[in-house]
Amino acid sequence: MGENLNLFTSTQETIHEALSKMGYEESLYELMKEPLRMLTVRMPVRMDDGSTKVFTGYRAQHNDSVGPTKGGVRFHPDVDEEEVKALSMWMTLKCGIVDLPYGGGKGGIICDPRTMSMGELERLSRAYVRAISQIVGPTKDIPAPDVYTNSQIMAWMMDEYSRIDEFNSPGFITGKPIVLGGSQGREKATAQGVTICIEQAAKKRGIDIKGARVVVQGFGNAGSFLAKFMHDAGAKVVAISDAYGALYDPKGLDIDYLLDRRDSFGTVTTLFESTLSNKDLLEIDCDILVPAAVSNQITAENVDNIKASIIVEAANGPTTKEATKRLNERGVLLVPDVLASAGGVTVSYFEWVQNNQGYYWTEEEVNEKLEKKIVDAFNQVYEISQSRRVNMRLAAYMVGVRKTAEASRFRGWV
Ligand code: NAD
Repeated sequence: MGENLNLFTSTQETIHEALSKMGYEESLYELMKEPLRMLTVRMPVRMDDGSTKVFTGYRAQHNDSVGPTKGGVRFHPDVDEEEVKALSMWMTLKCGIVDLPYGGGKGGIICDPRTMSMGELERLSRAYVRAISQIVGPTKDIPAPDVYTNSQIMAWMMDEYSRIDEFNSPGFITGKPIVLGGSQGREKATAQGVTICIEQAAKKRGIDIKGARVVVQGFGNAGSFLAKFMHDAGAKVVAISDAYGALYDPKGLDIDYLLDRRDSFGTVTTLFESTLSNKDLLEIDCDILVPAAVSNQITAENVDNIKASIIVEAANGPTTKEATKRLNERGVLLVPDVLASAGGVTVSYFEWVQNNQGYYWTEEEVNEKLEKKIVDAFNQVYEISQSRRVNMRLAAYMVGVRKTAEASRFRGWV
């Protein structure tokens, strides 16, 4: 039998394991194994050629016992109901790990924004907000960007919600442009969080970031800024990739040049002669490997060829359960997605706080607060992994489920 590549069921399994390990009753698992609410919407959108296309979208709200739900909206042809559910569950875990007053939420629309005009994207974004408006809002459920959505899309969504609400509602959504109440540091926050995790992991393994060989899969929002931070810290970023190929130079790539040339979808390799594939990229001899693209990249099939001693998951779900187990047995330090990529939601929370108080912080203040949150979270997860002799993923799930489990109990839900 092949390994389980289903993100939804493998997330359920790990949540179950974390709750049992902490001695919680089975009824808590029954509560947390699925989102409390899942809305499917169909949206007719007028296309530029005059035709009407009907798009399908989702919004999942995993658990709102701690506070409003929070999570991004993904525009991608592969979006499906189970993926959105799994992503909303990961958001609950991330918010628990960095101790934010939120539960997890997530949205997605089945579409390919790379083939749509700006006008079509705007009409689709506004249609989505109208379709989900009854269940979202600054105190109910707060969306944000995710794969193939950006600050412009957040701006259209905020404007549409403000019209429905008849108030200017910047707290409805995060990841907005600065002039509409966006936070300093939000754009680079996920990569900042990953960088902080890399620094902490390198310290534990006695690796000096200066001169360390780093490989990054994905050159979008998360991957490109991360490559830049690593490059600026003196690491040698020897390989990067996007959906179309990978670039490799054992002497280190010119990251500033590549950043300058990439397009808004994180594509850059098409401008060069690709020297290797995404599959080869993962197996390059390096110190630190950062999957920052899509799920199920490190699996039972290739895990034994992975040479990095530290893997930090910027993407959601890049490593399967079986691969996680084998990496742990080999002593590879794997910093799991729910911890490593929590920088984005942390600064989204800061953005929402600033919107609510109408007072805005400097980038230094944002970064200082972010660093404290991620370092505290890393240490807590690392200590639990050591004291309970479990891998970092299970430790992160144990930290992540606790807040929602306790809040649900206090509310009398279980
Ligand atoms: P993005 O859309 O900005 O970039 C995605 C990148 O991955 C692009 O370079 C694309 O070419 C590449 N890619 C797509 N398919 C690929 C494939 N099959 N193989 C290799 N590369 C491929 O997305 P992003 O915001 O950088 O998100 C990347 C990952 O990080 C996702 O898993 C996302 O859920 C996760 N993440 C992002 C944030 C955030 O704030 N942006 C926060 C948390 C987690």
